[in-house]
Amino acid sequence: MAQNFDLIVIGEGVSGLTCALEAARSGLRAATLESNLFGGLVLNVNELDGYPGAESGTNLASELMQSCAEAGVTSIQEEVTSISTHGAAFDAVTRGGTHGARAIVIASGARLKKLGVPGEKDFEGRGVSWCADCDAPMFQNEDVVVVGGGDSALQEALVLANFCRNVRVATRGDKLRAQKHLADKVAADPKISILHRTTVDAILGSKMVETVRLKSTADGKTEHVGAAGVFAYIGLEPNSGFVPKDMARDDGGHVMTDASLETTMRGIWAIGAVRAGYSGLLRDATEEAKRAAKAVRERLD
Ligand code: NAP
Repeated sequence: MAQNFDLIVIGEGVSGLTCALEAARSGLRAATLESNLFGGLVLNVNELDGYPGAESGTNLASELMQSCAEAGVTSIQEEVTSISTHGAAFDAVTRGGTHGARAIVIASGARLKKLGVPGEKDFEGRGVSWCADCDAPMFQNEDVVVVGGGDSALQEALVLANFCRNVRVATRGDKLRAQKHLADKVAADPKISILHRTTVDAILGSKMVETVRLKSTADGKTEHVGAAGVFAYIGLEPNSGFVPKDMARDDGGHVMTDASLETTMRGIWAIGAVRAGYSGLLRDATEEAKRAAKAVRERLD
């Protein structure tokens, strides 16, 4: 059923929930729209660097969701397919109907990029996983391959090393992109080995994953290694398919904003992983959310 709000926040990740919470606490009628489970990318994170007080990503998301409910934020489980404008107001269009608002904050986050190699789709749930935190215990004493060399890959490799016999981390370049403290922890873990200039170009098996074909990005040579699991963390792509065509985005599809986080459409802001220029740090997602909530409040006053 269509409803009208002061502010609609698209996405119930950390940035979206924080923004809606701040807005509601400042007296705005706020709603969040979410197509999946609340929490977003932080659900994959079990150790929150520089975020004292929260035990895990799941814990942080649950606390924010609870606070939003207590502050009177309306949570709507619908996927936004487009945004339309009516003078100075907006409609967030979903498969279930339309929801009107005087302002919109896009906080729809990003999703993990797929490898796009043979076997990836076929073995999803049968060895191919996107969540080491959830699935690592199923790989007790097994060999696994993690793909990627950023914070996500290393963080998840460390989780897997608590359960697995051997964790190979295949990254396509010469250098890791991850923060130093994660690289140091990985280097100190005897179960983890880093394979530079390496990617995965096929995932093979019968009922479950049995073998991974590694490919050198230097000379194209391939090698088969035994592995029961494959975890790909090769970067993120923004969830921005629904934004209006005339809203500026960068080549990767991230929404462009000005210094006050407003998009090129007046009255619509963007924050967190969907936004061009976002640092990737949780504390910045929170900081952007608070700034956007304040900007909306000031605009609607
Ligand atoms: P990312 O930083 O974009 O790193 C992706 C990694 O995957 C890079 O090392 C990249 O290599 C490699 N890669 C890409 N395609 C590949 C392929 N086909 N085969 C092998 N390797 C491949 O992605 P992310 O680690 O998911 O991080 C995303 C953002 O979230 C970052 O801003 C990160 O800092 C943030 N994050 C923060 C935390 C934290 O603060 N604790 C935790 C997780 C994520 P190249 O370097 O050669 O491109």
